[in-house]
Amino acid sequence: MKTFACTCGNRLFFDNTSCLACKRQVGWCPECAAIRALEPTGDGRLRCTGEDCGAILVACRNYAVEGVCNRMVVAGPDVAESPLCGGCRFNRTVPDTSVPGNRMKWAQLESAKRRLLYTLDDLGLPYGTAEEGFEPPLCFDFKADLVRDKGAWHRLGAVEHVYTGHASGRITINLDEADDAERERRRINMNEAHRTLIGHFRHEIAHYYWELLVRGRCEDACRACFGDHDDPPYGEALKAHYNAGPPHDWPSHYVSAYATMHPWEDFAETFAVYLDMAAVLDTVGHWGLEKTVRPLDDFDQALATYRHIGISLNEVNREMGLLDVVPEVFVAPVVDKLRFIHELIRTASRNAGGAADSREARA
Ligand SMILES: [Zn+2]
Ligand SMILES: [Zn+2]
Ligand SMILES: [Zn+2]
Ligand SMILES: [Zn+2]
Repeated sequence: MKTFACTCGNRLFFDNTSCLACKRQVGWCPECAAIRALEPTGDGRLRCTGEDCGAILVACRNYAVEGVCNRMVVAGPDVAESPLCGGCRFNRTVPDTSVPGNRMKWAQLESAKRRLLYTLDDLGLPYGTAEEGFEPPLCFDFKADLVRDKGAWHRLGAVEHVYTGHASGRITINLDEADDAERERRRINMNEAHRTLIGHFRHEIAHYYWELLVRGRCEDACRACFGDHDDPPYGEALKAHYNAGPPHDWPSHYVSAYATMHPWEDFAETFAVYLDMAAVLDTVGHWGLEKTVRPLDDFDQALATYRHIGISLNEVNREMGLLDVVPEVFVAPVVDKLRFIHELIRTASRNAGGAADSREARA
């Protein structure tokens, strides 16, 4: 992620809500597509201090009331008293904040979601609600296994347990995934190279894009690349995977062991790696660690840069005893699948070819 500048000159980060130097309130201005210092207008609204902006804004309800967001909404006659921002408007279920610790976990989920949406917007990928004509419409359920029932707490059993996953545009994330110790325990149990909140969002949104961009559109081409998604059926493949585990030679064909489970999971794991690559290259380009290269503009150059930066960042992390940043090995079959994802995104993108800036395209 890039950083931004306060009017006082201090550096502002993507998740900031105030400037640590001058104490000004800050937030995401949708007009600037940036974190900006905000000036009170005296009537409960705020003015963006961005050069040539000056937009009159109101804080997202989840910023002003819940303290889990830092995005603003452009004020206008049609804007509700206490509106939801461009990211929070997709929430269908949010955590019960009367449970100790839930607000902090929710804030972490929102932070990861904002990063996801930033990358989707940067790539020009479409997403939206039923009213906007999207089928399936996108929404998020952030749910916990611990629920309050008639005033008493109880933990959901195996049957009702909240599964992190995607179904018809609805992305569910179990709140336990925002608990570092619990998430790491699951990572080790599942023998995963990574398990992160942003990783969950990138994987689950990939299933959404299969529904939006592949189903009924290019299923045969997808089948040719990832295998037949109808045979064996998903449920059977899932059972087989958990009984037998991944084939031992999975690294010569797949981006992860989980990708071997079913062509839909292979698609999602590969799509998520494309989003990883886009986000990391945007960040290293901004920080001058590498020349800026956008995957949409030059896939081969982007992948070469990502492999190079991946190896060097992995070594930096190993030096500090941390997990590898880029654990994937980009063997030829994996590159072919990534190229399929690239073409799919390029075709769907409003920003392909570098012709339009994402902000212009959205306006
Ligand atoms: Zn400041
Ligand atoms: Zn602005
Ligand atoms: Zn919000
Ligand atoms: Zn999945």
